[in-house]
Amino acid sequence: MKIIRTLPSMTAWSERLRREGVTIGFVPTMGALHDGHRSLIRAARLQCDALVVSIFVNPTQFSPTEDLAKYPRPIAKDRSLCRAEGVDVCFEPTAQAMYPEGFQTVIIVPAITKLWEGASRPHHFGGVAVVVTKLFGMVRPHVALFGQKDYQQAAAVKQLVKDLNLGVAIQVRPTVRERDGLAMSSRNVYLSANERRIAPLLSQALQIGKRMIADGIRDVAAIERAMQQTLKREPTIQVEYLSVCDPDSLEPLPVITTRAVILVAVRIGSIRLIDNMLVKISS
Ligand code: AMP
Repeated sequence: MKIIRTLPSMTAWSERLRREGVTIGFVPTMGALHDGHRSLIRAARLQCDALVVSIFVNPTQFSPTEDLAKYPRPIAKDRSLCRAEGVDVCFEPTAQAMYPEGFQTVIIVPAITKLWEGASRPHHFGGVAVVVTKLFGMVRPHVALFGQKDYQQAAAVKQLVKDLNLGVAIQVRPTVRERDGLAMSSRNVYLSANERRIAPLLSQALQIGKRMIADGIRDVAAIERAMQQTLKREPTIQVEYLSVCDPDSLEPLPVITTRAVILVAVRIGSIRLIDNMLVKISS
């Protein structure tokens, strides 16, 4: 596996492979890799000739009060996971190279990022849109894989690629979970033992919503109420948002007809967790 740290060498590598007709798969990450990332890497490995994983903790998607400095960076472990999964290139650019003095471009995907994570974290998706566009420009992938875990992020990336004709096929893969249902996340390591015990309630609440819809309940308010009640069983959980939404626009749905995504974000102590569930109604 090649470790590439500079932007010109990443571009040169991709240009060479593209000239040879090789299909390039890409999994962008912030490192601290777990089985969720691994599933994206494996899916990419199966369908592409060459596979690039980027490891870059992108400063512009964190607000000043967020956890940039203490974000986990187990780089040796991450590289060995990539090596074991047959990754061809681990791309590890520096923040200085990505954002040299004088950097000024902004990219906003306004409608898709207006609510939910976008409302809770106002600068977040601007940072994501810029970093994804820059990485695509250097890696030049044919296919890039994202996790459903970050549903709104994947939706924003799809819109960005469409609007800017970036020419990358975006695939969204299912959320990988711990045995007790907790969605895997690099941030789960921050949970105390007690918080970790409580955290699966998030996926349990989503399951309850899904079950109610499967049972024929279409009243969104009733579904959201039942989910809120499940989360309220633990007083340390603060619900930031919980909403049954249109899976494409991410606008709240007044009533469920064919498809929905249930989006939820909570705080347990100082840790913020997000999760979601896609629901299709079979007629
Ligand atoms: P991150 O390193 O958190 O920026 O995530 C990199 C990619 O991995 C994103 O596309 C995430 O949505 C995806 N990802 C993170 N956690 C999971 C998970 N539990 N299951 C599937 N994909 C995930």
